[in-house]
Amino acid sequence: MKVIVIGLDGARLDVIKKWVKEGHLPAFEKLIKKGTSGNLRTTLPGPHSVPAWTSLFTGRNPGKHNVLYWRQLKERDYKLKTISSKDVKTKRIWNYLSEMDKKCIIVNALLTYPPEKVNGILISGWTTPDQDREYTYPREIKKILEKFNYRIVPECRNRSKESLDRLYKALEARINVVYWLMENYEWDIFINIFFETEILHHLYSSFLDPLHPQYNPEYEKIVMGCYKKIDSFIQSLIDNIPKTTIFVVSDHGFSPVRNKIYLNFVLEKHGFLRKKRLFHKSQYKTTNYIKKIMKITLPETIKKKLQRKRVEKEMEMVIDWEKTRAFCAMGAIGDIYINVVGKYPHGIVSKEEYNNVREDIIEKLKNDPEIGDKIRGIYRREEIFSGPYFDQTPDISIFFNGKCYSNLYKGVAAEPVDETVGFHTLDGIFIAYGTDIKENYTITNAKIVDVTPTILHIFGIPIPRDMDGRVLKEIFKGDSEFAKREIVYQEIDEKWRIRERIRKLKFEGRFGTHSISQKR
Ligand SMILES: [Zn+2]
Repeated sequence: MKVIVIGLDGARLDVIKKWVKEGHLPAFEKLIKKGTSGNLRTTLPGPHSVPAWTSLFTGRNPGKHNVLYWRQLKERDYKLKTISSKDVKTKRIWNYLSEMDKKCIIVNALLTYPPEKVNGILISGWTTPDQDREYTYPREIKKILEKFNYRIVPECRNRSKESLDRLYKALEARINVVYWLMENYEWDIFINIFFETEILHHLYSSFLDPLHPQYNPEYEKIVMGCYKKIDSFIQSLIDNIPKTTIFVVSDHGFSPVRNKIYLNFVLEKHGFLRKKRLFHKSQYKTTNYIKKIMKITLPETIKKKLQRKRVEKEMEMVIDWEKTRAFCAMGAIGDIYINVVGKYPHGIVSKEEYNNVREDIIEKLKNDPEIGDKIRGIYRREEIFSGPYFDQTPDISIFFNGKCYSNLYKGVAAEPVDETVGFHTLDGIFIAYGTDIKENYTITNAKIVDVTPTILHIFGIPIPRDMDGRVLKEIFKGDSEFAKREIVYQEIDEKWRIRERIRKLKFEGRFGTHSISQKR
């Protein structure tokens, strides 16, 4: 038995179904009609690609795998750090399969840099810092990729023809690399993530929906072109690799956005956050002068790096921590942290005050005249997270309705935007196809954490008990081996259990008999 997992970052089932109906995607039509399909509910905070793919490949929530965003708060600090594969604190699907001697090829999965040793091949995806690094295991694979002009992330930041050409070239190179690896190496599971779909949905979301005022059939064709290429790729997999179960999954959906919300401004407005005065006028002038020089002289990559550093520095300089009870640290994932005594260097909220402060924030935000109606979900951490990294998760996570996304600070609560026309929504896609998969079946309650346990079950590998997901047994035909086979579980390994216990003790030590209770 072989398994192929095709990840289409940010793909939406409604868009795919529309193009299937119009006859543009014959392979997808086959997958849906002869297989099982439905929405795949993603994970919070966010939704964001990095925690979502990590939940998909670990079968666990961020409180267990420790991944919230591509840059996240350092422990006991207000500073952010860029995370890497080393920050993923639980095993991913390829670790379990490698241990059972199954051959794995993983191409472009997010947050896999630096690449780890697997029983097969691993090619790191985004957040690899740049292509000069050693981003493959084994190392020699990199040389082969260069011959294909392989790009980890295509340089496509706008809708110019040059940008799109680069994206389509990268897509073609990725498909050629996948074919080449499939033909030349042994594998039991092949995982490939297309990141091109995420880039296109960010740039074109509002142009895809015929009901949206910005709908543009020419732009729709550009995005559809990418899906058509993936469609013919899938068709060749169906034709050439029999006895294989194919999964097509995405990490979240997409929607056009109209508003950007600045959470730290909202917190300031309600008296939870206090700002310092940032610059004297003279300093401000100097900064502007330096910015102008930078614009002319520095290459794009260095400019970006400096800008990032500046934002970080500004965060530190701007917020008056001793007068701040709550803050947003990452922005795009709708995260709010409470400045707790003992947890942060200048914490001011005591454990006795914690619950009242948190409830107060939730009430004020829900009833805020500028942003209240834009909130679709607001969650206390124990409602959505559990596990040894629970204390690193946001105290409050906000999910905005599809028309909004959040950011850190500007002198307004919300403002209209059009520079980024698409942002993430809760529902990604789930499609399964193969001889053992039910035909023309719609699955209604699949979650992103269910994918890994389902695949482990196919391979007959026991499911670790601490996984949050379940085996989607309903996708298998009643007479198939996988429907009949009992689900077997395994205890989590001792090293992990000890780590969990230590973290729990640390957490309780800091919080005493705090009223936060974990789900499991
Ligand atoms: Zn994504």
